[in-house]
Amino acid sequence: MEREKKVYLLFSGGLDSVIAAKLLQNLGFQVVGVHITSPFFEKDLSKVKELADRLGIELKVVEAGEDYLEMLKSPVYGYGKNVNPCIDCKAYMLKKLKEVAGEEGIIATGEVLGQRPMSQRLDAFRSIEKLAGLRGRVLRPLSGKLLPETVYEREGVVDKRELLDLRGRSRKRYPEILRKLGLSGELPTPAGGCLLTEPSFAVKVKDLIEHDQLTWENVKLLKLGRHFRIGKCKLVVGRNREENEKIASFSKDKDLILKVEVAPSPVGLLRCEGEPERGVLETAAGIVARYSDAKREKEVPVSVYRSGKLIEVIKVQPNFNTDKYALKV
Ligand code: SF4
Repeated sequence: MEREKKVYLLFSGGLDSVIAAKLLQNLGFQVVGVHITSPFFEKDLSKVKELADRLGIELKVVEAGEDYLEMLKSPVYGYGKNVNPCIDCKAYMLKKLKEVAGEEGIIATGEVLGQRPMSQRLDAFRSIEKLAGLRGRVLRPLSGKLLPETVYEREGVVDKRELLDLRGRSRKRYPEILRKLGLSGELPTPAGGCLLTEPSFAVKVKDLIEHDQLTWENVKLLKLGRHFRIGKCKLVVGRNREENEKIASFSKDKDLILKVEVAPSPVGLLRCEGEPERGVLETAAGIVARYSDAKREKEVPVSVYRSGKLIEVIKVQPNFNTDKYALKV
């Protein structure tokens, strides 16, 4: 059996992708790990690289582009419990893998049949392959014995009997598998889940989708501070000094920065399409004042800056309920 072929493996750095890499290597393939990254699912890249080095595989890192956001707005197979479009997301990753692999490369993943309810069922595997234009062309070595024949088995590139038969969530067999594959000792574990599966994050992503404001720049802001929707504007309010500094550094030309200067105060970033209406600006100032140390005062002056220049000071009453505007579960 010919065995110098390159396999392009979706390499998250999770244990399943590590096992898949080692198994394919032991079968004589040259493995290229392809790590897809995005602000929604970010792992410690240095740990992923360390893992790839430990395994002796080449690593390619691909950043999800604008096309990921387009997919996220209206996924063909819909969302899971939150705003996670798992089937479309996996298909997206496979398409990226295909771009890296070209026509000749073998495509593989470390997916396990039945491990995840939405994207790792047999029918989901079929949908993912169809959407990615890779029907029967995705090798899943961890469950290969249990899955329909792929083109690689048909063409004699891989022997089904050499693949594993893992199914479900249980990890009982993993220690034995790791030992047999020669994967002993501590492996670096790059932590990091997917924010699209978190209810509190999903609320904020949905809000951006509804207001047609889903850009990577806006997504990065979602990781910081408290978020408020005031009409067409979005207000982000820092919760500590570090967040205040980061939020201020995210500010673009048209954004407004709001803060109370007579008492310790959070920084608020108000992002609008066009000039904010007076009522919106006053509400935003009221929210910033509400989270400042001057919140018990009858009237609080809130400074409004644009591009580093003070443009006005608004006097507001901070004692109102911010819940109406808050983006939270
Ligand atoms: S959990 Fe997140 S990263 Fe994983 S497939 Fe679903 S949407 Fe994609």
